[in-house]
Amino acid sequence: MKIAIMGAMPEEIAPILKKLGTYKTTKYADNEYYESTYNGVEVVVAYSKIGKVFSTLTVSTMIQYFKCDTLLFSGVAGGINPDLKIGDLIVATKLAQHDLDITAFGHPMGFVPGGSVFVEADKDLIALSKEVASELGKTVQEGVIATGDQFVHDSKVKDNIVKHFNADALEMEGASVAVVCKSLEVPFFILRAISDTADTDASFSFDEFMESSAIISAEFIMKMVDKIVR
Ligand code: SAH
Repeated sequence: MKIAIMGAMPEEIAPILKKLGTYKTTKYADNEYYESTYNGVEVVVAYSKIGKVFSTLTVSTMIQYFKCDTLLFSGVAGGINPDLKIGDLIVATKLAQHDLDITAFGHPMGFVPGGSVFVEADKDLIALSKEVASELGKTVQEGVIATGDQFVHDSKVKDNIVKHFNADALEMEGASVAVVCKSLEVPFFILRAISDTADTDASFSFDEFMESSAIISAEFIMKMVDKIVR
């Protein structure tokens, strides 16, 4: 077993690297990958940089070059579902690309021929997250995550994403990671802690809460790793 643990920004993986303590740094494809052993299991950690293209490159590298066979993503997201408050965790049940638009040809938003609007996350890893949550006495909401190459800070854009995808949260990497993992048959799990609510003041909220929310997500992910390696 070799576990990939991925984030998009340095702050999202910093708490994970801290927990691992020592690691080997390898430069590959204009990025850094951190290899370590955690309780006897090999792990590879990286942040991709923001957005669908960089996250696609990183997840492909972790699977094809570093030979990871399970992928966990930890990070922050904008909340859409009003039940999600700053710092709350959301586990993706399925993910879609909200900015993939060939509706001009009669296709639904998020769909291209050969693909599907939604990609479902691994059910066993979601079940494991429920065990972790109950052991920690934490509530972790499950829901739909919509991904696009855009920091959403407008309630009209948000409403449109709800209309098409019934999404609970949105971010900029999850669905691309999901597509790659599904294509390469690697089970994946996407966790996000809410940093903002994608409204007019989202960038201020993000700046204030990104780091604390990133820590909340990373700590939960490491509890998942504890359970996976056991
Ligand atoms: N402050 C950063 C940019 C952050 S972009 C800078 O200046 O470099 C937002 C990041 O957090 C992305 O990785 C995305 O996945 C996530 N995210 C959090 N809130 C979001 C929102 N409202 N819309 C889109 N992505 C969001």
